[in-house]
Amino acid sequence: MHSDYNRRQFLRHASLGVCGLVFVGIDAAAKPTVRQVWIVQVSASGQVSAPERIDAIIQSNAQWHAQLSQDAFDITRREGTEAPYTGKYWDQHGQGIYRCIGCDTALFNANTKFDSHTGWPSFWAPIASENVHNTVDTRLGMRRTAVNCSRCDAHLGHVFNDGPKPTGLRYCINSVALNFIALA
Ligand SMILES: [Zn+2]
Repeated sequence: MHSDYNRRQFLRHASLGVCGLVFVGIDAAAKPTVRQVWIVQVSASGQVSAPERIDAIIQSNAQWHAQLSQDAFDITRREGTEAPYTGKYWDQHGQGIYRCIGCDTALFNANTKFDSHTGWPSFWAPIASENVHNTVDTRLGMRRTAVNCSRCDAHLGHVFNDGPKPTGLRYCINSVALNFIALA
């Protein structure tokens, strides 16, 4: 009994030691319970700042459901897709910043928006590569590249290789995942 206790204590301390080493190695200031991400902040006038490391937004489905509309929840948290030509931004042309509906991170600048004739708002680049991340999506019997918000992991849409210059990319994004703010 006594030796079992000592062994458990030893294992507990050993694992704490390993965790401590890992966190020191990554970032001495990092909190062990909060994941952090690099994000580029964009001001109301469109000014882009240097990337900074901030806490990711991690919430339960119940919390997201309370915060978002049903459509926004279904699309951003359950990887849904809005019907083409039904969203509020596919035919919008004003200058401004498209931000994440979940966490307000700046995702796309209207100056990269183009008419893709698909019925979804389409962009040839994100506002900053840090602010979105790609994952492989093999649903529907296809291999596609899904695009998510880096800070809150909201599903935004997909990116394809048939876009216009200068990138040749087409970020096909659900309107309901975005919140457009006209330039101040
Ligand atoms: Zn987000």
